[in-house]
This record gives sequence, C-alpha cells and structure tokens, in this order.
Amino acid sequence: MAETMRAWSVHQPGPVAGRPLVHGTRPVPVPGGDEILVRVDACGLCRTDLHLAEGDLPPRAEGVVPGHQAIGRVVDRGPDATRFEPGDRVGIAWLRRTCGSCRWCRRGAENLCPASEYTGWHSDGGFAEYAVVPAPYAYRLPDALDDVTVAPLLCAGIIGYRALRRAELPEAGRLGLLGFGSSAHITAQVALAQGAEVFVMTRGEAARALALDLGATWVGGPRDRPPVPLDAAIVFAPAGDLVPPALQALDRGGTLALAGIHMSEIPALDYKRDLFLERTVRSVTANTRADGEELLALATRLPLRLRTSTYPFDEVDRALTDLAEGRVTGSAVITGFPHASN
Ligand SMILES: [Zn+2]
Ligand SMILES: [Zn+2]
Repeated sequence: MAETMRAWSVHQPGPVAGRPLVHGTRPVPVPGGDEILVRVDACGLCRTDLHLAEGDLPPRAEGVVPGHQAIGRVVDRGPDATRFEPGDRVGIAWLRRTCGSCRWCRRGAENLCPASEYTGWHSDGGFAEYAVVPAPYAYRLPDALDDVTVAPLLCAGIIGYRALRRAELPEAGRLGLLGFGSSAHITAQVALAQGAEVFVMTRGEAARALALDLGATWVGGPRDRPPVPLDAAIVFAPAGDLVPPALQALDRGGTLALAGIHMSEIPALDYKRDLFLERTVRSVTANTRADGEELLALATRLPLRLRTSTYPFDEVDRALTDLAEGRVTGSAVITGFPHASN
C-alpha cells in the first residue's frame, strides 16, 4: 500500500486562467471511525468544482481536493466502518455527512441539515488517487454501469433527479430545461422515459444538437420562448437573469426549479408577468441519500445514454478550463489515475 499519492487541490481560488488547481503529492489519507478508504478509478467533473476553484463557493478547508463524483474500490476501513468490504466498488458523492438528529434529518430532509458536510468542499474529494468517505454516505454501485457512465450520475444525475421531482412535472407534461450540460442531459433522459415532452433552451450548438439527438421536441437559445407554455422548468445554468423568462415560459400553475448551488443575481420579478396564476419558483439544495439510491436504481433500468468526454488525471486543469469555456458537451470524467499504471 502506497504512503503518498498524487492529488489536485485548490491553491488560490480565482479564474481558471490563473490555474487555481495545483497538482502535488500528499499522504494517502487514513480512514478513521466509520470511514472507508477508496482507491479512485474515475471521477466526474461538476460545475460545482468550477465554482470552488474560482471562489464562487469559498473553500471550507484549506488546500481542499475537489471532485465529488468518484468511483473506486474499497481498500481499507476505519475501526467503526461496518459497511462494505475491501474490493467493493463504491461511489463517493457530494453529500458527505449529516448530523442525523436535527429536525430536517429526522423528517427525511437531510439535504437541509444545518451541520451537513460536502465532499470536495469541507473534506478532500476524488481528484486524488485515494479518498476517504464515511461508509454510510457511500453508494454501492450497480455492476451493469461502467465507471465513466456511473460517475456523472453521482452529482449531475442525482441533483437533476431531485430537481425534476422538485419541478413537479405532471404526467406526460411539458418540461423546459434552461442550460444543457451534464446534469440536464441526464435529467432530460429520465423525464423522456417518464413520458415528458422536453424543451431545451441553451446557447451551445453542440448542446442543442445533443438535446435533439436525445429526443427533445424543441431547442432554442437561452432566452427564446418555447412554442407552447410549459408545465414545469428547471434552470441548470448559474444565470439568475434566466429566472424571469423561465417563469414567463410557464403555463398557469407551473413550477420552476432552480438546480444550481450558485446563481448570479436574479433581476426583480414582476408579480403579474412572472408569478401570478400560481406559478411557483423553488430552489434545489443538494440531495438526500434516498434520492441517490432511487436514481441509481432507475439508471440500471433505463437505457441512459451519457455523452462523456474523458480526461487523463494529469489534465484535470484542462478539463476545468474546457468546462469553464463551454467546450464540454455532456459530462466530463477524469480517468487514468496514476495508480492504474503502477
Ligand atoms: Zn441534521
Ligand atoms: Zn456536483
């Protein structure tokens, strides 16, 4: 067992052009308490990693290793970890720890736990050869799904799934998706499989082509109005100025869910134009473990077709730059971890 490992960490948060992530060597973490140690084989890249690197989300730990969609094998366990055996294939996701006793935890809303902690924000994540995670918060992964397919499900998939539920799309309803990156392209497929009609508003030509390829009825620009009023919509882009047009695209009684952890300022809403007729706007905050288990079970039943681009471990910063500059279509996944060639 190696004593040191290679890892990418947030050095000085700032624009990606300034290379906020640095690559270095650090000790392999030792699993304590209920933690398991995982040798990472793949890790998805999420827009939240970009928000962390750029300082939109101030790091909660100095020199933190981002990455919260990690897949790997258990190699060691802390003294109190009773779940999982060495060799088990597991996923490490965004929600890392909750208190288990507050009123939100007790009513099945652990995503709202005031003491919740997150992978790659409060504690080191998966852009490293090894990572630890509390065993109760790791996911057992279906064998049917390969690493590159399952990694983006761990945040993009799960958060999109929760956002879809928060959007309260009626049976066979019309769903609008604003922004069409990793999370939206998975969510669209879940919604289509449930009989929804999907309308996509996004800037990139490649993203629009992907949306049509996956079965969207209509694609347009971020501020274009779909040809029919929508029953529900989800804003995936971190752009607050999309909220008023998204509300205006809703039919009476429609619901708008805002899926991001970070959003630029939302312009003033006009009551009559944007909200009246019982239109609802609501946020989506992380996820519960139940959301994750449901999405993974769904993913084994549905034929999800993920569009993925893989980047070698040595090029995490290039992947981040590509994401920042809109060059990633679908999901980006880091593979080729150095231990694989040892
Ligand atoms: Zn709690
Ligand atoms: Zn994420």
